[in-house]
Amino acid sequence: MCRHAAWLGTRQPLTSLIDEPEHGLLKQSYAPRHQRHGMINADGFGVGWYNEARAEPVRYRRTVPIWSDANLPALAQVARSHCLLAAVRSATAGMPIEETATAPFTEGTWLLSHNGRVARDALADLGEDLAARAESTCDAAWVAAAVFLRRRAGLDLGEALAEVVSRAGEKDPAARLNLLAADGASLAATVWGDTLFFHLDDRSGGVLVASEPLHDRPGWQAVPARSLLLVSPGGGVRVQPL
Ligand code: GLN
Repeated sequence: MCRHAAWLGTRQPLTSLIDEPEHGLLKQSYAPRHQRHGMINADGFGVGWYNEARAEPVRYRRTVPIWSDANLPALAQVARSHCLLAAVRSATAGMPIEETATAPFTEGTWLLSHNGRVARDALADLGEDLAARAESTCDAAWVAAAVFLRRRAGLDLGEALAEVVSRAGEKDPAARLNLLAADGASLAATVWGDTLFFHLDDRSGGVLVASEPLHDRPGWQAVPARSLLLVSPGGGVRVQPL
């Protein structure tokens, strides 16, 4: 399982997800504490954030371990946004290690990350010709293609994630489908086979959502299995069953 994290609130630098908190994604890339599958997340990483200079988010992704990118620390210090998303990857066996297989996936204003694995066959009837639409043969890229088709059909972030996860999960009972997505104004995440936590950060003014806690300050809440977490533009958090 990979690890992912997102922020919605006051403007913060990307370092707030990566190396500023003690157990940020940098630490989680080599020493995750709640990871159920895989020990290390060294098959690449990606970050995405929103800036008023562009309608779409800015994305940066690599196939190298996050700790080995010497350019990232400075970039993460100056990339500041009200909405951030980042992921470190542990490729599922048989999946390619390439940039196009690395989260976050993006289309329009949306960013998406997948923790888990799913049989691509289980996704096949979630959209016409997903194999051609997906950026990569990686299962996560197929999931992204299925989610983005729903974006085009007018579904919102939560609706798109809920539909893809519940339909794919029904077809593949062994699937693990923890998704985390942003559209620049809100966040949505699913819990389906792995852990997910959120933290209302009064000090900084916003909400952190992550596969596992980024720090040991009190206030992290675990999201129950098989549910959908929604963070609204005002910072309100709702959890509903899937
Ligand atoms: N299956 C996805 C991939 O290979 C996600 C992997 C994971 O969560 N470890 O990228």
